[in-house]
Amino acid sequence: MSRATILIVEDEEDILELVHYNLVREGYHVFGVTSGEDGLNKARSDLPDLVVLDLMLPGVDGLEVCKLLKQDPKTRHIPVVMLTAKGEEADIVAGLELGADDYVTKPFSPKVLIARIRAVLRRKAKEAVEDASVIKIHEILIHPGRHEVLVKDKPVELTFTEFRILQYLARRPGWVFTRFQIIDAIHGDDYPVTDRSIDFQMVSLRKKLKAAGEYIETVRGVGYRFKE
Ligand code: CA
Repeated sequence: MSRATILIVEDEEDILELVHYNLVREGYHVFGVTSGEDGLNKARSDLPDLVVLDLMLPGVDGLEVCKLLKQDPKTRHIPVVMLTAKGEEADIVAGLELGADDYVTKPFSPKVLIARIRAVLRRKAKEAVEDASVIKIHEILIHPGRHEVLVKDKPVELTFTEFRILQYLARRPGWVFTRFQIIDAIHGDDYPVTDRSIDFQMVSLRKKLKAAGEYIETVRGVGYRFKE
């Protein structure tokens, strides 16, 4: 993890230099750019493990960069840590809603920024492991690596989005998830995911699971739950 690649997007040269220096000293592989356009291009071409993103940039600003990165299936998994100025609360909230993972307010100590970066990378690594682990519940077996679902040892053909929904719910049986939480977690690529489309996906998913579809329960007025 210490050889993770980090992209810094910051137009203020002295801050860029300070962050660059400190991250290299921590053992990270680092590159820096000074505009939103360059940040987007570099993120798309090099797919770094994390982006440190200043919000106040000339031209394409940080929020726009964050939005474009999080909209693109190729880059949306890359965590973003925002650099913000004091009094930019509205931008911080907007950035977090766009999918940024954390933020540090200027002026900041490099130690704090590094601690935040480490925490975000650790969290992402944990999620990746969790995402890859096999789930066995009732007579259902979900194998993320093979993108395979077996019910009583018989394979069930699911779309990418249906698979992600099943995986998400079955990971935490008994927990109730709202439609919004499900949409946020699955980021379906093959379907425009909205409140209504989640309901359609559930109908289709239950049908394909046949008798095992009964494990997916509708919780009136809230959302969905996988039966314990
Ligand atoms: Ca700036």
